[in-house]
Amino acid sequence: MRDWRSGPQYDHRTLADLAGAGYRVRVVCTFCRHFSQLSPSHLRHLQPARYAWRTISPRLRCSVCGKKQVEVTAQAP
Ligand SMILES: [Zn+2]
Repeated sequence: MRDWRSGPQYDHRTLADLAGAGYRVRVVCTFCRHFSQLSPSHLRHLQPARYAWRTISPRLRCSVCGKKQVEVTAQAP
């Protein structure tokens, strides 16, 4: 059974944590479904270092349609 505390709202890792573990951040536009994989280390300048990595999503904009409605997921190495 999945622990209820393992939900995304309890993921307190930072972008630096993901970068150090070799993760990639997959960003999907919920409007046009364009997606890209970004390096966490390249996103780190967009938010304070102590923030949970997922809070980056409102700061990202789709490069195709320009909407700011994206979903982010962490991809294990
Ligand atoms: Zn888009």
